[in-house]
Amino acid sequence: MKPVDFELHRPETLTEAVDLLAAHGDDGKVLAGGQSLVPLLNFRLARPGHLIDLGRIASLSALQRTEDGLSIGAMVTHAQAGRSPAVATAAPLMAAAIPFIAHEAIRARGTIGGSIAHADPAAELPAVARALDAELVVLGPGGVRRIPAEDFFVANLVTALRPDELLARVEILPAGPATGGAFDEIGRRRGDFALVGAGAQISLADDGTIRDARLCLTGVASTPHRAAEAEAVLVGRAPTAACLKEAASVTRQTVTPTADLHATADYRRDVAGTLLERAVQKAADRAAATSTTSDEGRRAS
Ligand SMILES: Cc1cc2nc3c(=O)[nH]c(=O)nc-3n(C[C@H](O)[C@H](O)[C@H](O)COP(=O)(O)OP(=O)(O)OC[C@H]3O[C@@H](n4cnc5c(N)ncnc54)[C@H](O)[C@@H]3O)c2cc1C
Repeated sequence: MKPVDFELHRPETLTEAVDLLAAHGDDGKVLAGGQSLVPLLNFRLARPGHLIDLGRIASLSALQRTEDGLSIGAMVTHAQAGRSPAVATAAPLMAAAIPFIAHEAIRARGTIGGSIAHADPAAELPAVARALDAELVVLGPGGVRRIPAEDFFVANLVTALRPDELLARVEILPAGPATGGAFDEIGRRRGDFALVGAGAQISLADDGTIRDARLCLTGVASTPHRAAEAEAVLVGRAPTAACLKEAASVTRQTVTPTADLHATADYRRDVAGTLLERAVQKAADRAAATSTTSDEGRRAS
């Protein structure tokens, strides 16, 4: 099928884009990489009269390591963020999750802002944003709003963004030393949205215990899920096999997925625990390797 007729706007500044959104209200829609929106247009599941393409607004493609952390413009593509050394060091969980998003061709067009604004509970980046306590910087006719990821994801594909607002950038506090990230998921085919996914960002203290744990799950709730109960099990303890099994068990007890055509609720619950355990193990191993490397660096200098 083909989309209904629409007018395409290509603003060159943020002010122009915000004015266009304000002018067209519920009949306007932002276009980023188009990897989710264009299929929705073609199936006529979305029928906006005005599309506002953000592709010409240079400031939205900036990815910077600032004094306060990491600032990722909404139009930074998955591929750009996946290649960025700043993302790898400041947000290793995000770097680990990106290769699991769809296929390379989709990651070349799909954007960080588009994924987060689309808010699919099966998608990797919304869950990562929750685990990393990202702040979402939003622009609208009333000016700038900063929305914590915790409050951004309201329901399945629904966010706290108002119809006349756009997501401008994502800000993340940088990971401390001795931090590793890992992601794992299970899907029917590589590149499909996964049935269930789990991500972990683990920071170790000097004595090898877990100083900070940030854990997320996809596909187990109507919004991206942060596994806070499992984080509480891990923090302050050594990442032993028994400790990780306890975190997995708490995860299975606390998630409440629903069944669908693809998997039963019990299957999703069980797999969530297993994937989380694997992701934590890998992230802790990477954190330990990072701290060994920097110790060796300090001794050599
Ligand atoms: C075959 C296939 C497989 C896929 N598999 C995965 C997967 O495994 N994991 C995954 O996460 N994604 C997957 N996707 C989706 C893909 O990652 C999309 O790129 C992403 O969801 C949306 O990003 P986009 O930049 O393409 O946004 P668009 O498609 O342009 O927009 C998506 C929605 O967000 C809104 N929007 C976009 N940017 C902004 C903004 N800055 N401010 C406000 N609203 C905005 C749009 O109005 C629209 O409603 C898949 C897509 C395809 C086609």
